[in-house]
Amino acid sequence: PFEVLIVGGGPAGASAAVYTARKGFSTGIAAERFGGQVLDTMGIENFISVPYTEGPKLSAALEQHVGEYDIDVMNLQTAERLIPASQPGGMHEVVLANGASLKARSLILTTGARWRNLGVPGEMDYRNKGVAYCPHCDGPLFKGKHVAVIGGGNSGVEAAIDLANIVGHVTLIEFDSKLRADQVLVDKLRSMKNVDILTSAATTEILGDGERVSGLEYKNRETNELHKVELQGVFIQIGLVPNTEWLKESGLELSKHGEIVTDARAATNLPGVFAAGDATNVPYKQIIISMGQGATAGLSAFDYLIRTEPA
Ligand code: FAD
Repeated sequence: PFEVLIVGGGPAGASAAVYTARKGFSTGIAAERFGGQVLDTMGIENFISVPYTEGPKLSAALEQHVGEYDIDVMNLQTAERLIPASQPGGMHEVVLANGASLKARSLILTTGARWRNLGVPGEMDYRNKGVAYCPHCDGPLFKGKHVAVIGGGNSGVEAAIDLANIVGHVTLIEFDSKLRADQVLVDKLRSMKNVDILTSAATTEILGDGERVSGLEYKNRETNELHKVELQGVFIQIGLVPNTEWLKESGLELSKHGEIVTDARAATNLPGVFAAGDATNVPYKQIIISMGQGATAGLSAFDYLIRTEPA
């Protein structure tokens, strides 16, 4: 058993592990894929103090930093079930897909999230080559260009407002017959000069020249006609899904969006169970924020362990 077991090996998990290991606690990390979403990222320009890095490089740096300490990294391990301790100070149990069980007095859950994909031809081929998911991250790469935002909920409309200030032109594409975002956001978007809004439009394909995105094709759902738009970027904003399905039966409190509910100390409703990063209800999903909350979770686990007698 560990004193602290971290489930998830992205920026949040790596940060939490370094903090608990530095407190002298035996620490383990079980991760489906060490590095997390960072592995799928190309240029990173908002990890403060590092003006430019790339996902694989940052992921290797996370691994190296974790490797400086006596941390047991169990990569390619998927957690399937959490069995919380029956009393404070007791052992929590995490059941893995391979049938094994890991136990620890304190847990830090950092299983992250995944962007919902459109599932149309071209999307995967041009990922990081014009297909983007994060306007805070990649918006400035499209300065002066024409981009589409797919999705007319709050995140899509916010992304379109954000991008319209940076890029040349934004086409917002919504599948439904109307935008679903808050009215203030819709009003703000409609007031912007360099924005077109298409509703009842189903994106059917992301087009490219073999190297980068060059346009997209959509179907007008009222007329069934196909149309093409020339553009250089497509931001897909149809939802960020937390990787918390495995926690549903555990008694851990999840929000209506499936996010782990945490407080300012990264504590959950279960004593000794903490959580950090994109899997939680922390506002704004970013590397630097995940690492910050991971550090908070690590320090809170320390606080818990020094105050709670083993059961
Ligand atoms: P994740 O990185 O999602 O890591 C989750 C970890 O948990 C992984 O190791 C995963 O394998 C593991 N896991 C999941 N389920 C299980 C399970 N059941 N059992 C065991 N392990 C599990 N942010 C920025 O700040 N700047 C950027 O430029 C930027 N660009 C991005 C570009 C792309 C294409 C994407 C997808 C994201 C980008 N982000 C960027 C967002 C950033 O990557 C995330 O905010 C950050 O990685 C979240 O860290 P995390 O540790 O919470 O989760």
